[in-house]
Amino acid sequence: MRTAAGIPPESASLKARPKRSIPGLTLSNSSSKFPARPFQYTHASAQSDEQLVCGPHSLLALASQYGTPLYIYSADQILERLALFQQALLARRHLVCYAVKANSSLAILKLLAAHGAGFDIVSGGELQRVLAAAPEAANRVVFSGVGKTAEEIDLALDANILAFNVESEAELTLLAARAAKRKRKARFALRVNPDVFAETHPYISTGLREHKFGIDIRQARRIYREAAGNRWLAAHGVSVHIGSQIRSAEPFGAAMLRVAALVRQLQRDGIPIQTVDAGGGLGIDYHLGVDNNSSFHPKAKVEEYAAAIELALKGLDVQLLLEPGRFLVAQAGVLLARVLTVKRNGKKTFVVTDAAMNDLIRPALYQAFHEIVPVVPRPGRAAAVDIVGPVCETGDFFARDRKMKPIEPGDLLAILDAGAYGMAQSSNYNTRPRPAEVLLHGDQAALIRRRETIADLLATEL
Ligand code: PLP
Repeated sequence: MRTAAGIPPESASLKARPKRSIPGLTLSNSSSKFPARPFQYTHASAQSDEQLVCGPHSLLALASQYGTPLYIYSADQILERLALFQQALLARRHLVCYAVKANSSLAILKLLAAHGAGFDIVSGGELQRVLAAAPEAANRVVFSGVGKTAEEIDLALDANILAFNVESEAELTLLAARAAKRKRKARFALRVNPDVFAETHPYISTGLREHKFGIDIRQARRIYREAAGNRWLAAHGVSVHIGSQIRSAEPFGAAMLRVAALVRQLQRDGIPIQTVDAGGGLGIDYHLGVDNNSSFHPKAKVEEYAAAIELALKGLDVQLLLEPGRFLVAQAGVLLARVLTVKRNGKKTFVVTDAAMNDLIRPALYQAFHEIVPVVPRPGRAAAVDIVGPVCETGDFFARDRKMKPIEPGDLLAILDAGAYGMAQSSNYNTRPRPAEVLLHGDQAALIRRRETIADLLATEL
């Protein structure tokens, strides 16, 4: 069902639409209880083409209603992922502190807070987001980050957050000074650098001694002992974060073994460590194929990860904090982009979309792979194309030499697994307003951020 220009017809609002209600459409069978992605194709029928949907929600209709580029997230999947962590850790006191940096939309923070999550923040801005979304969750916040300012520390002390993950001796000195000034005891964990190699992209590997992150684990005992003499500091935990998009449980277990040894030593020293923070970093599979129920089993992944950590902590009476970001939100999100034009230069075909690197920078920044699928597939033979945005940079691409079925101007493409580090890393480069965001929850679809306007962009300039 397409207009002459190839643009799918407008559909009515999907607000409060009952489940499975797209007329004439039946959903493909989802074989897994925890599908890797909440987006799947319907079967074509007499009334309608095959199309990509999220439960009862038509992505075509959402794009028509809210425009493109558009981020769409499944709240149901985000909560399902949170529950996987919470269930895998039932045998131990624990708190899942969602890494706000992955996707800091207020509605997502509110959703997670309401289901028991805490938060890992890395700036005063992120703290203000948590306080705006869920002030009652302030005492479930840990504050990481390699360079905290005095103002940020003051804000966090006043909010009475759970703990500061301290990344240097200088930061601990600053924390003690700010705490003394405000007459508030600061709970802290040293973020130790365990010197563990985690196989991932070099820009997101953080656990080696040569990285800027954390404190050399060999120095940690001395620093804890010195801090014990300061009445404004309370040693609360030990924390670690070895990197992001780590697919194997092994490096997490290796890092935890080193942390556990340190905790035992500190407890023998009489330093009452109460928490171990294992950081975030559990990776997802970005190469699933359109059949999203294939080889990636989120539940098994989380269980394997939790087991590796638990094995290392065996016998230690501590609360476990985790800081997952990507694993909770990445696969719950898509970025919808409309095809503006299809052009040929020499031997190459370029599909130019209305989304660009400013909306989703991961391919340009990390050479990250995102699967891209048409919302309504066209029949025909697949051919290699580059899928690019309109920004004036050769690095403005989403896919290169990607085999795609025929694509025409006006078609809608879904860039999959875009829920983490997508909108959160977006910018206004080329004076492009940032996309709108929609959160789907059951049969409800809510606009959680309106599209920026040029007036928004100009408002701060004098
Ligand atoms: N915690 C800290 C300290 C981080 O720097 C990050 C991101 O790299 C995370 C948690 C979240 O990582 P991920 O989104 O890979 O789970």
